[in-house]
Amino acid sequence: MLTLHCPYCGVDADETDLHAGGEAHLKREGPGASDVDFEDYLFMRENPKGVHFERWRHAYGCGKWFLAARCTNTLQVFGTYPAQMPEPPQEIKDKISAARPGWSWGNLT
Ligand SMILES: [Zn+2]
Repeated sequence: MLTLHCPYCGVDADETDLHAGGEAHLKREGPGASDVDFEDYLFMRENPKGVHFERWRHAYGCGKWFLAARCTNTLQVFGTYPAQMPEPPQEIKDKISAARPGWSWGNLT
């Protein structure tokens, strides 16, 4: 079972206490965006077998949204962090690099 640490209330929450919210770090496109950029924003998502960044909500806990870095293949969790952060903390990126040398995800490395 997947267990994620909620960075707000400090609880190690089981998957059943959480609600998945899809891909993290999406670049939001507004009314001035091109059709291609807006289409990408609406429909195109990363779907890696490996390192992934996701949004999760501690639905049966504090109710807040947070972000998680984990491996979709092994369920290894590299860390969680507040949803307001524009990219993962360096500490988490270092953990991923140690476990998965040469990883990349979107614009992140
Ligand atoms: Zn919480």
